[in-house]
Amino acid sequence: MTVDWKKRISPTVEAVPPSGIRKFFDIAAEMEDVISLGVGEPDFVTPWTIRESCIYGLEQGRTSYTANRGLPELREEIVRHKKEQHGLDYDANTDVLVTVGVSEALDIALRAMLAPGDEVLIPEPCYVSYKACTTLAGGVAVPVPARIENEFRITAADLEAHVTPRTRVLLIGYPNNPTGAVMRREHLMELARFAKAHDLLVISDEIYGDLTYGGESHVSFASLPGMQERTLLLDGFSKAYAMTGWRIGYALGAPELIAAMTKIHQYTMLCAPITAQLAAVEALRRGAKYRDKMVAEYDMRRGFIYRGLTKLGLPCFEPQGAFYIFPDVSSTGLSSEEFAEQLLMAEHVALVPGSAFGDCGQGYVRCSYATSLDKIDEALARIGHFLENHTSPHR
Ligand code: PLP
Repeated sequence: MTVDWKKRISPTVEAVPPSGIRKFFDIAAEMEDVISLGVGEPDFVTPWTIRESCIYGLEQGRTSYTANRGLPELREEIVRHKKEQHGLDYDANTDVLVTVGVSEALDIALRAMLAPGDEVLIPEPCYVSYKACTTLAGGVAVPVPARIENEFRITAADLEAHVTPRTRVLLIGYPNNPTGAVMRREHLMELARFAKAHDLLVISDEIYGDLTYGGESHVSFASLPGMQERTLLLDGFSKAYAMTGWRIGYALGAPELIAAMTKIHQYTMLCAPITAQLAAVEALRRGAKYRDKMVAEYDMRRGFIYRGLTKLGLPCFEPQGAFYIFPDVSSTGLSSEEFAEQLLMAEHVALVPGSAFGDCGQGYVRCSYATSLDKIDEALARIGHFLENHTSPHR
């Protein structure tokens, strides 16, 4: 007798669609001569001093498990870093959990916070994992669309329209993937008042916090008056230090919440890899100058791609953070998916349909500029060629 797999996979898992990002990678991987603006991954290799510290650790025989919460020296560096960056005060013993990327932190945070049916407000467009992790944790994701007229910032009025007695958590990610939007202090203050009025916990994914441009600087949600106790701050090393493959991140928050998350972490992960933790210590001690160089390079590419897409007639919001730009392609008369698929087939340029980041992303596509200027230049030429053949009569 064969297994009837249709009946054997958990309905909760069945309810989660596959990531709209991965689908396009898989098609692109089969093609030759593809320029990918699809991946949300730095094109830089991790700085040598960080790699070397890991190698040195291995030479010293540092190959064991660590404390569940992470190496004490890493937790201390994280606390020091957040004090320096945002003036925040955390206790390295009780308020920090080192995780397998922000991905793990997000997953266990939602599992630690939600009872079945609890609602999570999620401003969209947003990173693809927010809704999926909420569903997998037994919660209900409540998308709140952000509008381009508001530079893709979410307001308290937007959120107010979606709050119910079951709302427990607000999950925000700024600088934003996929739009590149940032929230200034006054915008965040509005959300802080809203969170307090409705007694919500806030998960603030600040993985792109070091990547801001044009005079913007990142304000941590936890640094707002009265917000530290109700905010779980997530951050990591993947983007700022070009360390995606190391799988290392962390969560900072109230001791009670960190203890609950640590309980899940100790049974499921045990600890983050020691090699990655050693590298992360070095990133925080000596990585800043390499990080800042990479950020300056992203800034240059940002200007280049923004001007290029605008010149091609695609309206764009000028991104102020992360390394994505989110042009409006609706003038072609194609949906996001049709645009992405046809561009890939015709011109071998991979990007991600905006609809992968929520319904309000329909009509947009996400281009990552974490790739070389030469490749961006060639991608723009190919997009221009594609647009010549896909000009709707309304353009
Ligand atoms: N949060 C956001 C907004 C992201 O864009 C990503 C990766 O693309 C992650 C979290 C996952 O990061 P990590 O590599 O630390 O798991």
